[in-house]
Amino acid sequence: MNNKTSASRWIRKIIQQQNSYHVPPAGDFIKLDAMESPWPMPAELKQSWLDTLADIQLNRYPDPTADDLVRRLRAQMQIPDQSAIMLGNGSDELIQAIMMAVAGENSAVLAPAPSFVMYEVLARACDLLFAGVPLQQDFTLDMPTMREAINEHQPAVIFLASPNNPTGASFQQSEIEELLEIAPGLVVVDEAYQPFVRDSCENFMSRLTDYPDLIVMRTLSKVGLAGIRLGLIAGHADWIGELDKIRLPYNINSLTQGTAVFALNHWQVFQDQIDEICIERGRVYDALSSINGVKTWPSDTNFIFFRVSENRAEKIHAQLLKRRILIKNLHRVDSALKNCLRVTIGRPDENDHFLKELTEALIS
Ligand code: PMP
Repeated sequence: MNNKTSASRWIRKIIQQQNSYHVPPAGDFIKLDAMESPWPMPAELKQSWLDTLADIQLNRYPDPTADDLVRRLRAQMQIPDQSAIMLGNGSDELIQAIMMAVAGENSAVLAPAPSFVMYEVLARACDLLFAGVPLQQDFTLDMPTMREAINEHQPAVIFLASPNNPTGASFQQSEIEELLEIAPGLVVVDEAYQPFVRDSCENFMSRLTDYPDLIVMRTLSKVGLAGIRLGLIAGHADWIGELDKIRLPYNINSLTQGTAVFALNHWQVFQDQIDEICIERGRVYDALSSINGVKTWPSDTNFIFFRVSENRAEKIHAQLLKRRILIKNLHRVDSALKNCLRVTIGRPDENDHFLKELTEALIS
């Protein structure tokens, strides 16, 4: 029997040309590559969390509107009463929903580059034109080029990750405001790392009422809950109402809803972990910045973006892997990221271990 499938005939070429999202195996490595929190749920909370989960009826579909969870998220994230909300199975799912909703001949999506890779991956998968507008050499927005690109492409959506991944800094508030003024369509401000921004005024959640074409995106992934996959978008009901039509029914499973409500009811525990990560970030940043041959950029996130000398990034990454430390090698991701690496803030002992092994790798 012929074992050949007809997949290559029917799968769209654009999909065939893409690669799957690669997650390197972590085993018992020190995992500092994916912006997870290093802190598990504290032991003293675990039993009452499990008790909550035990009451969930797994034979029933989840609460379709997740009302209880939405109420708590509104309070925790200070989402304006007038704004509508949609939850996603991670913010990835919400990015995908936005792309699917605007997909159509000649529609474009625009984002600074480099930025979060899924904007481009999902735009292309939806046959959208993706315009990546290079950041300046210091990884700030290149406003003249942004203006030109917006004018030329008339994007249906602009994605602004602020703070940006992988470069770590927030974009200037006044520049985001200008982009909101000139954009012909939706502007998504992706605030995945907002919990780590020390100037807490610097976010666009409270500005939703000023800009009808603004959507703010958040996630619980970076603050100790990556495993439950919960993201949200908040914005004008006109936008969210349309996007909700392509949300898969029951996309937020019952265990996620129950766990998120529990976490929000014990938020101080998670807030303390965030504060500790920010303190560690300062320490790792200072230590990295003092190493010869390492250039760092200030971080508003739970990771630090840095550059090593010419042609060293791959070797350093490989050497750290040999020492069972996993960080992100950005060297081949974008031409602007040559010799760049990204390390997530871990526990203090993990960070010490990373700093020691990095220093050794640099002199070897
Ligand atoms: N936005 C940005 C800027 C990110 O860095 C990430 C995760 N790396 C996401 C969104 C996706 O997060 P989630 O886990 O909620 O899908």
